[in-house]
Amino acid sequence: AKDAGRNSISWFDAASHRALLERVDLESALRDQLQRRGLDVHYQPVLDLRNDRLAGVEALARWTHPERGNIPPGIFVPLAEDAGLIRELGVSVFGTACRDAARWAALPDFTVWVNVSGREIASGYAARFLAGLARGELRRCRVGIEVTESVLADEDVALRELTTLHTAGVPIAIDDFGTGYSSLARLATLPISVLKIDRSFVQQIGTRLGRASIDVVVHLAGVLGVRTVAEGVETPAQLEALRQAGVDSAAGYLLGEPRPADRLALTPVTGRGR
Ligand code: C2E
Ligand code: CA
Ligand code: CA
Ligand code: CA
Repeated sequence: AKDAGRNSISWFDAASHRALLERVDLESALRDQLQRRGLDVHYQPVLDLRNDRLAGVEALARWTHPERGNIPPGIFVPLAEDAGLIRELGVSVFGTACRDAARWAALPDFTVWVNVSGREIASGYAARFLAGLARGELRRCRVGIEVTESVLADEDVALRELTTLHTAGVPIAIDDFGTGYSSLARLATLPISVLKIDRSFVQQIGTRLGRASIDVVVHLAGVLGVRTVAEGVETPAQLEALRQAGVDSAAGYLLGEPRPADRLALTPVTGRGR
């Protein structure tokens, strides 16, 4: 059957045709959603490990397709990029995050983190952001931006946009830190204020090498003068090890899953608040 599949051109055509139709279908549904009411946004709490307070939230886009139900952002974000819809997606999430942020306005040093993709940054992001700031949209909240190492690595335009924002006081975090390649010399020149330690490192923290990797990142952050946030914390043992390593903040299912703004909750964890 495997050989038949490989050699059968008509079988392949039918399958790829179906895939194409499905994609076009999904794309137009996404366009429709963005035009009509925008995406939903869920928020995941970020805990400040130094005082056990809520330091902020990460905004994560959510899309419920009318027939197919939940589509994960790992699918619709790349789709939006390819379909030229990433700007609309970003504007939608950003607008919702700013409105929702009003409810956390009284919390000290609270930051709402939004994820921004490379192509979105390159589409005049800084000007849009600063215009929103000027219009007073961000009066009652601080918005930080999360970008991956790859965005900072090879796109001159993105780097210019981020430098503009950083100079204007907007906090910028490197997302999934450790999974991409950044030379140490280059890191020191980037406009960043936070390293978000990727979940894969947190999962390895129980091993000697894993713990050493976290120690290296914490030390590096100290030298660079930036903060550290660990993501994907799922067990009390991981949380404890992160504390011991001197990581500044943490997020993960242990501390709270992504939820709509009105249901944001920091899960009580035993051993916290000593
Ligand atoms: P990310 O920025 O690395 O976000 C963290 C992802 O890990 C989220 O998945 C979150 O739900 C999940 N997560 C949080 N805590 C845990 C944990 O303890 N264990 C595990 N296994 N997972 C955890 P999600 O919401 O599916 O988002 C996936 C990716 O999609 C994000 O990865 C981000 O790169 C992208 N994304 C989400 N929203 C947006 C958006 O508004 N704009 C853009 N450009 N990208 C977005
Ligand atoms: Ca992120
Ligand atoms: Ca991440
Ligand atoms: Ca990621």
